[in-house]
Amino acid sequence: MSIIVKKYGGTSIGDFERMHHIARQIKSSLNDCDKQVIVLSAMSGRTNALYELAKQMHSEPNPQFMDMLLATGEQESISLFAMCLQHYNIPSQTFLSFQAGIQTDSHHGCARIASIDSQIIHRALSDMPVVIVAGFQGIDSTGAITTIGRGGSDTTAVAIAASLDATYCEINTDVAGVFTADPKICDAARCLEKISYEEMMELADAGAKVLHTRCVELAAKYRLPLIVKSSFLDVPGTWVVPEEEMEEEIMEGQVVSGITCDMNEAKVSIRHVPDKVGVTEAIFAPIAAANINVDLIIQNVSEAGYTDLTFTVCKENLRKAISLAEVAAKRIDAGHVIAAGDIAKISVVGLGMRSHAGVAHLIFKTLASEGIAVQMIGTSEIKVSMVIDAKYAELAVRSLHESFELDKNLAILSE
Ligand code: ASP
Ligand code: MG
Repeated sequence: MSIIVKKYGGTSIGDFERMHHIARQIKSSLNDCDKQVIVLSAMSGRTNALYELAKQMHSEPNPQFMDMLLATGEQESISLFAMCLQHYNIPSQTFLSFQAGIQTDSHHGCARIASIDSQIIHRALSDMPVVIVAGFQGIDSTGAITTIGRGGSDTTAVAIAASLDATYCEINTDVAGVFTADPKICDAARCLEKISYEEMMELADAGAKVLHTRCVELAAKYRLPLIVKSSFLDVPGTWVVPEEEMEEEIMEGQVVSGITCDMNEAKVSIRHVPDKVGVTEAIFAPIAAANINVDLIIQNVSEAGYTDLTFTVCKENLRKAISLAEVAAKRIDAGHVIAAGDIAKISVVGLGMRSHAGVAHLIFKTLASEGIAVQMIGTSEIKVSMVIDAKYAELAVRSLHESFELDKNLAILSE
């Protein structure tokens, strides 16, 4: 029995007309493959509306109650969609996370999927052509409902596909595929035919919203073929593939695959930090204990035994990070804490960086020629990220896109 897992995002099932459109697509593809597992997000705007509702009730809702509420968005979409399939005489069965045996840890709001009881869906598929599963949610070992982070239905789909040993997983969305940059910012952005798991992971992590980062990690781990495509347009989409399948592009000189812009980070600086062993630990231990992810970190060379330390966190964690940094600064006899939210993190990603020199130089030359100052820099083997003033974010993306000739079929380092 061959199985295909298809995930539809909120806009793809945003209203009844869209649901009918998807149902007709599923009907016409029923002969192409044996069985289909449909994973759905909540209808567009629904999860945000639930957040708003919660905020009206309490400024800091208990995360467990919050997950109980947020999970209803997907309960609504899968049940309505099953009725829509019923209209086309397509038999299906719906599953909430606990019914499908999707176990997670207990980190409410950002839980990780630990296991899926694949027998449950397998059994259902032996009786019917289509199974519909609620994305974004799971159940922890105490039986509490959890959610796995905004945009998490992508991850549900890939985790289910891996557990069922599906032929491939389709992520159906409102864009044509994975672009070299956000087409809303950069007119010249191009939809890629394929991209490696590793590049896609870096792009997703660096702020490309097209896929949930964890979903790409899982696809890579299980070497599951993954395609991102539009449910609105009849275009081929982007395959996310193992690195070996990108050899030709890299041989031909493709250095960079994409540029992202993340406006969702803020920076926290602690001034006059005593340059002593253990001080950095004292600052980051409470931040880690609060489950706050730190992204970029810079520490200046110390002068007269003191240094400045700056790090970035997600904007939603800023308030908490500032108060923890203030407590730590006092404890270690450091100076005051300053924060700034008007920053953008621009990242340039490409497998070709491993084998080509000059990428960082071209990035900094491009930004300098536009008069853009770089505040922080971070790198990985295949990524260069920099923090700049938020007001230059779009200009930076457009000019880097042009410098790396990403509008052409191959991004060649022409220096
Ligand atoms: N409905 C959830 C959200 O809006 C999950 C998803 O869309 O993937 O984040
Ligand atoms: Mg999404």
